Amino acid sequence: MIKDGYYGEFGGAYIPEMLYPPVEELRLNYEKILASKSFQNEFQELLKSYVGRPTPLYFAKNLSKKIGCKIYLKREDLCHTGAHKINNTVGQILIAKHLGKNRIIAETGAGQHGVATATACALMGMECLVYMGEKDIKRQAPNVSRMKMLGAKVVPATSGSKTLKDATNEAIRDWINNPESTHYIIGSVVGPHPYPDLVAQLQSVISKEVKKQLKELEGRDYPDYLVACVGGGSNAAGLYYDYLEDERTKIIAVEAAGKGILTSESAATTQLGNVGIIHGSKTLLMQNKDGQITEPYSISAGLDYPGIGPMHAHLFTSQRAEFISIDDHEAMQAGLALSKTEGIIPAIETSHAFAIFKHKDFQPEDVLVFNLSGRGDKDLATYIDYFKLEE
Ligand SMILES: *Cc1c(COP(=O)(O)O)cnc(C)c1O
Repeated sequence: MIKDGYYGEFGGAYIPEMLYPPVEELRLNYEKILASKSFQNEFQELLKSYVGRPTPLYFAKNLSKKIGCKIYLKREDLCHTGAHKINNTVGQILIAKHLGKNRIIAETGAGQHGVATATACALMGMECLVYMGEKDIKRQAPNVSRMKMLGAKVVPATSGSKTLKDATNEAIRDWINNPESTHYIIGSVVGPHPYPDLVAQLQSVISKEVKKQLKELEGRDYPDYLVACVGGGSNAAGLYYDYLEDERTKIIAVEAAGKGILTSESAATTQLGNVGIIHGSKTLLMQNKDGQITEPYSISAGLDYPGIGPMHAHLFTSQRAEFISIDDHEAMQAGLALSKTEGIIPAIETSHAFAIFKHKDFQPEDVLVFNLSGRGDKDLATYIDYFKLEE
């Protein structure tokens, strides 16, 4: 699907010249490293013994009965640290090691990617700096504590709106100044080539496991539908990866509509966005007519991103994937329903995926695989506030 760094018209590496050396070093080496025996041995071993893979593919009997089709849940919420993000950070740490780097930087908004990066750094004994907007540091105190406990240095970004995009600017500035020693771990299938491809390949373990598990459970290795939520798009890319060319499987991508696509508070990129450049990549993003990026909104911190990765932009425009946007209210209700139906409290990001049933009909014989991208512990306060469960 990717050719010379592009998915159709999307992708590429639109970066300042000063960033060219480290990005080029990564581009020239990543495929070789990914294919090497030493990388694969170490990666597979860590996925198994540290991350806890393979994660189960669980047949959700109650939910299936309620909806009237066959629903399987890929349990990424059972990964170490509670979401799929660790697949990527463990992989990229090993890449960094192969490139001879001893220092890791990352940016984080809600702190989930920061925690996954700090975790992998602690494991591998690497120095770790996580850039985070000053405002986010205040809003996401538990994740800041986690990162500190894991030995990472959390560096406040004090410019601009003091949120994710400012943290990204600070991280890029750091990388420009330390290209030799430092690897920059990006947390989703976004950023300049080769990041979208690198992160998709590291997350594709999800897809590979589903194939094997579905063959055992259903007697065929492909489902009728794959469903995942899309922030930047890494858990979705991981789920779709081995099925992208298999037209028997339909792909559904779920984005956050926030308070609704007709309001100014939304993150439904395919509905509200158009072609532009964000974080070094040509893709679909939400911007005003002057090309300034619009502030996104979603109740879930992980879907609160003004763009989507270039692979997803291509899946959308080529109509390989169907995009459904789900608002805060629908997502919260779906999260509560899954908790009560299956005894699994999903992350609010993930809850968006489970709200598609009002938008789409399925046949009794349809087999659906949902990516259960993360667990809801981090979101309990938000759920409780929303439903006033304490009353
Ligand atoms: C970060 C996050 C997401 C969104 O990121 P993607 O790159 O789109 O996968 C989704 N679910 C959970 C649980 C997350 O932590």
